Amino acid sequence: MVIAGAGMAGVQTAVALREQGWRGAITLLGDEPHQPYDRPPLSKAVLLGKADGSAFDIDFAGLGIDLHLGRPVTALRPEEHVVETAEGPVRYDYAVLATGAEPVRLPGSEGLPGVHLLRTLDDAERLRPVLAAQHRIVVVGAGWIGAEFATAAREAGCEVTVVEAADHPLAGALPAEVAAYMTGWYADAGAELRTGARVASVTGDAVTLADGTVLPADAVVVGVGARPATAWLAGSGVALSPEDGSVLADERLRTSVPGVYAVGDCASFPSARYGTRLLVHHWDNALQGPRTVAENIARGEAEGVVYDPVPYFWSEQFGRFVQYAGHHVDADELVWRGDPAGAAWSVIWLRGTREPGAGRSAGRLVALLAVGRPRDLAQGRRLIEKGALLDRERAADATVPLKSAVL
Ligand SMILES: Cc1cc2nc3c(=O)[nH]c(=O)nc-3n(C[C@H](O)[C@H](O)[C@H](O)COP(=O)(O)OP(=O)(O)OC[C@H]3O[C@@H](n4cnc5c(N)ncnc54)[C@H](O)[C@@H]3O)c2cc1C
Repeated sequence: MVIAGAGMAGVQTAVALREQGWRGAITLLGDEPHQPYDRPPLSKAVLLGKADGSAFDIDFAGLGIDLHLGRPVTALRPEEHVVETAEGPVRYDYAVLATGAEPVRLPGSEGLPGVHLLRTLDDAERLRPVLAAQHRIVVVGAGWIGAEFATAAREAGCEVTVVEAADHPLAGALPAEVAAYMTGWYADAGAELRTGARVASVTGDAVTLADGTVLPADAVVVGVGARPATAWLAGSGVALSPEDGSVLADERLRTSVPGVYAVGDCASFPSARYGTRLLVHHWDNALQGPRTVAENIARGEAEGVVYDPVPYFWSEQFGRFVQYAGHHVDADELVWRGDPAGAAWSVIWLRGTREPGAGRSAGRLVALLAVGRPRDLAQGRRLIEKGALLDRERAADATVPLKSAVL
C-alpha cells in the first residue's frame, strides 16, 4: 500500500487501514518536511502563537506505517505498479492519491517578499512575526481563509484591509442575501472590507486595484482559493476533471486506474444524494473519505461501500462559530431561522417545496448554515442525512427545534 500525500486524508487513510485490519505494508509519502499536521489550527491558534504546531498525535511506527517526509511523489506509472520519487520508484499493489490542494496564486506575485499564502505550517510560521509586528496588511479574497486570517490579524492588532472582487464575502459558498450580513462582521472587528475590488497588481508593499487605487501594505496575504494538487499525475492515465483538475473518483473513491484510489481535497466524487459531482475542500471530507477507501480496500470489491456524505465544515471568524452542512443550489428555497443581524441564527435550504395540504408547505432539507447555533447544525445534519421533509412554517420559527419541524 502506497499513499501519496501525508496530510489529513493520507494519514487518516493509513490509520483507517490498520483499523480495518489491513496487515500489509503501508508506505506514506509526504513532500513536506514536518511531522504530518492538521491545517485548521493554522489560521487560528497557530497563527496567533497560541499553539506551536498542530502535529497529529499518531504513533506511525507503532502502527507499522512507514512514513517518509520530504519525499515528493513525482509520477504514477500504473503499468509498472510504481509511484516515482526522487529517491527512486516505490512499488504498490494499491495506491491512494491524497495530495490535497494548493493555493491559487496571483499572477506575478509568486516569490515576492511580503506576499504570503496560508496553506502550510511554513506559511503560518512566516506570518506569525508579521502579525506580532502589528503590520498594515492587505488581504486579497474574502473567502473562508481571508476571513479567518483577518480575524487573527485584527486580534493581533494589525491594520487590515480585505479586498474582494465579488460584491459580498464568501461569494463562492453563499448567496448575497446571506453573506451580506457577514459584511458587517468585518467592520465590527475593525477591518476594512472593499467589495467589487479587482486587483490589478500586487507587490510586496502595495496592492493596486483595477480602478487605480493603491493600498499600501507591509504585507499582503492572498486567499483566493485552492486547486487540487494533481499536476504530478499528468500522463499517468488517472482521469482528471478538465474543469477543476480534481481526480475523477467514482462512488467508491476508485480512480480510472485499477487499484488506485483518491481521497480528500484532490478528488471529486459523484454524489447520488445531490445528483452532482462534488469537490469538497473541507476537513470532515478528509476524515470520512479515508474510512471509505480503507473499507473498500480491506473488504475487497465484492463488499465495497459507497461514499455519499453530507458535506460538513466549520469556520471560526470574527468571534463567531459558523457551520455549514449539505449542499445547496440557487433553485433551493432559502428559509431564515432567527435574526441575521443578531449573534445566533441559521439558514436552511429546502428542495422541491410543495404544499402537502392544509395550507402548509414543505420541502426536503438539503443544506443548513448555522451561526452560533450548533444545535441546529447537529439536528439539521442528521435530518439532511435522512432526507427529511420539513414543515416550512415550523422550520422558519427559530424557537422550534429543527427536528420538531419534520413532517
Ligand atoms: C489554513 C487552513 C485552515 C482551514 N480551516 C478549516 C476549517 O476551519 N474547517 C474545515 O472544515 N476545513 C478547514 N480547512 C480545510 C482542511 O484543512 C482541508 O480540507 C484538509 O486539510 C484536506 O486534507 P488533504 O489531506 O486532502 O489535503 P492537504 O491537507 O492539502 O494534504 C495533502 C498533503 O500532500 C502533500 N503533497 C502534495 N503534493 C504532493 C506530492 N506530489 N508528493 C507528496 N506529497 C504531496 C501536501 O504538501 C500536503 O502535505 C483549512 C485549510 C487551511 C489551509
